[in-house]
Amino acid sequence: MSAEDRDWRARGTCNSVSPDVMFPEPQDKPAIIQARAVCAGCPVGLMCLGYALTTKQEHGVWAGLTPDELRRAAAAARRRLQRHRKARREAAASQVAA
Ligand code: SF4
Repeated sequence: MSAEDRDWRARGTCNSVSPDVMFPEPQDKPAIIQARAVCAGCPVGLMCLGYALTTKQEHGVWAGLTPDELRRAAAAARRRLQRHRKARREAAASQVAA
């Protein structure tokens, strides 16, 4: 783990609660809501989200998202990136053709 990772993690609001709070059972909706509430005011949520997406976290609540939600967010981001790249390729091709 890099120094940068340690730095943002040390500033996470979840450091003030038991790890059990942030790793609720997947079907325990009240516990998931409790974990989301911890994330809601966290100052390092964006860094946490990036870390969770790139490391494909399979357990716990990260940046207010469950692993299923993280997977859906990653898939949506991939689709948006593909559309953006396709649009750029098409724009470049139309400029070459003109
Ligand atoms: S966003 Fe949530 S899981 Fe991430 S560091 Fe903050 S409190 Fe912890």
